[in-house]
Amino acid sequence: MSASIELPGWTPTYSGKVRDLYVPDPGHPVGAGVREVFGDVVLVVASDRISAYDHVLPTPIPDKGVVLTQLSLWWFAQLADLVPNHLVPGADDAVPAAVAGRAMVCRRLEMFPVECVARGYLTGSGLVEYRATGEVTGIPLPSGLVDGSRLPGPIFTPATKAVLGDHDENVTFDVVAEQVGHDAAVRLRDLTLAVYARAERVALDRGVILADTKLEFGIDPVTGATVLGDEVLTPDSSRFWPADGWVPGHAQPSFDKQYVRDWLTSPASGWDRAGDTPPPPLPDDVVERTRSRYLEAFERLTGRPLG
Ligand code: ATP
Ligand code: MG
Repeated sequence: MSASIELPGWTPTYSGKVRDLYVPDPGHPVGAGVREVFGDVVLVVASDRISAYDHVLPTPIPDKGVVLTQLSLWWFAQLADLVPNHLVPGADDAVPAAVAGRAMVCRRLEMFPVECVARGYLTGSGLVEYRATGEVTGIPLPSGLVDGSRLPGPIFTPATKAVLGDHDENVTFDVVAEQVGHDAAVRLRDLTLAVYARAERVALDRGVILADTKLEFGIDPVTGATVLGDEVLTPDSSRFWPADGWVPGHAQPSFDKQYVRDWLTSPASGWDRAGDTPPPPLPDDVVERTRSRYLEAFERLTGRPLG
């Protein structure tokens, strides 16, 4: 499973499928120094791990962690006037050399237990729900929509954050309001839709459709502000489609794990998605094509090569 590396002065506190979190160790000169200068922070480290179908795969994708981190940093800058984010200004030098490029020093937030999803297009779990009920998280949609259809307008379709290994579950706005309070739920919805609207426009200017995206917010315990945390608008948290290849009615080509998913479910992998065995190692060409796809997403969106 996931494993965090040792970083002097930092204590690992959490390992997700893709990222590892650390806090400064106050008993170590490096950690004590960071605490003294920057206060209550976390180091968010993106690994090269890749997950698919709720499994962490045994083969990493080289440079994926750097791509996700650099793309998040770029988006935080694009969104800075819309919503405060968890980056700690001036803390770049506090990132340990061993994880340079793929880590961010962030304000430690009390995260809302909500996956804040915005959708401008219908696919994935939204499509599954729509086909069963005509709604997505309680929001009624017009009939006749197909996989990849553009929605009449972007919608907020939250999900509850599952414990590691479990599926996130789509929930209605009212469930979120019960969980976090009505005012906070309204704030999360409005911020999520504002971020989506901005990001969709930015991406489309570069020939990329932002079909949907998942954001996470938290409360800054010092200021009480609602702050955008986690990673943002990466191929792991969003569906990006090349605009010139968009044809509703079937699955769209996308800038993410498409090759990995296609290979895993093909006879070539010999893997049974419904069974109990973990997925097999990825062949080199799947790794390389996936790596290129992540790099291409970065380059298309930011307009510059990585690094
Ligand atoms: P999954 O493997 O299903 O994605 P996960 O979301 O818990 O699980 P990661 O995304 O790999 O795992 O790890 C990132 C974790 O860090 C998330 O739990 C996220 O809520 C948390 N997080 C992000 N930013 C902050 C922050 N500023 N303060 C505290 N926690 C944060
Ligand atoms: Mg996550």
